[in-house]
Amino acid sequence: ANPVKKAYSIASIPADGIGPEVVEAGIEVLEALSGTLQSFDLDFTHYDWSSDTYKKTGKYIPDGGLEQLKKHDAILFGAVGAPDVPDHISLWGLRLAICQPFQQYANVRPTRVLKGTQSPLRNCNTGDLDWVIIRENSEGEYAGHGGRSHRGRPWETATEVSIFTRHSVDRIIRFAFETAQKRPRKLLTVVTKSNAQRNGLVLWDEVAADVAKDFPDVTVDKMLVDAMTTRMVLKPETLDTIVATNLHADILSDLAAALAGSIGIAPTSNLDPTRENPSMFEPIHGSAFDITGKGVANPVATFWTAAEMLEWLGEGEAAQKLMQVVENVCEAGVLSADLGGNATTKEVTAAVVAEIKKSL
Ligand code: ATP
Ligand code: MG
Repeated sequence: ANPVKKAYSIASIPADGIGPEVVEAGIEVLEALSGTLQSFDLDFTHYDWSSDTYKKTGKYIPDGGLEQLKKHDAILFGAVGAPDVPDHISLWGLRLAICQPFQQYANVRPTRVLKGTQSPLRNCNTGDLDWVIIRENSEGEYAGHGGRSHRGRPWETATEVSIFTRHSVDRIIRFAFETAQKRPRKLLTVVTKSNAQRNGLVLWDEVAADVAKDFPDVTVDKMLVDAMTTRMVLKPETLDTIVATNLHADILSDLAAALAGSIGIAPTSNLDPTRENPSMFEPIHGSAFDITGKGVANPVATFWTAAEMLEWLGEGEAAQKLMQVVENVCEAGVLSADLGGNATTKEVTAAVVAEIKKSL
């Protein structure tokens, strides 16, 4: 036995829609990887928290659930959302109910065109589009501050107040600079809308200018979010690391996923960079009820998610190998319908498992 072999305890929360299908695929691939590499162990604990549990018990997370979750090294999450539960209830009931208390303030969304897949952009090849979007994940437009008065009256008023604190803006911008610094191009684009939002987003600009002084080797450029959408489409090769507010980055990362080929390949990490709490890893896509149970969901987003999780746990080499294997399988033409192929979830998974056993 290898005396330094590490064992990681992973919580899995497959939840709703295609979540269980892709998480099962992800775990199968992770187990094949750790079984083949023999350099670390993974121990999974399954939590059946979902919209079904909510409909039965009125709660997504049972009493004491967060304390249980806190004991794990990482969380692998599927998707939450059900046709008969309002989206704001399911989102706040499960995903945000974990992200917020666990202070997962950095949401990281890598996007690139995988080998063997195609961007819908003309002349955009593997390598031309290779970004990491850093999303502020704790406050901003999704802080949940606001209220409604005069319900149902013609003069009903609702407020949705964005909260920007120097503390949170500073920590996310610092995290973005650190991310940019580790990448070859050392280029950070700070996205705001500080021409129109003259309080919170001017604070973003000021903090970004301050933090930049600590990272003289990183090139900073500033974009307004509207112009940014154009640049992502027309000049993808000019971007690398991108940081934006909770709302702006939410929108930009959906665009990014589509530009990279499909929402079915994109991963996201909800990180607590202090490592006081476990971080949570999930595919960017939602529960996708239109394809649930059909066996056609693309598991690649969850494989990439698994690679991001390994990287965060300190198994960078295994993460790289996993992505290489996934790209080999894409290049061999084993693609699900969203990528223009006809392979099922199970076929893509089996191909990745076979490639792990063959090439690693
Ligand atoms: P939610 O409300 O939880 O965001 P949703 O039903 O809006 O979920 P999304 O997951 O956001 O659906 O995805 C939008 C569409 O993209 C889906 O309807 C589905 O057709 C497609 N899609 C999403 N994920 C995948 C996947 N892994 N593989 C293939 N297609 C997918
Ligand atoms: Mg959706």
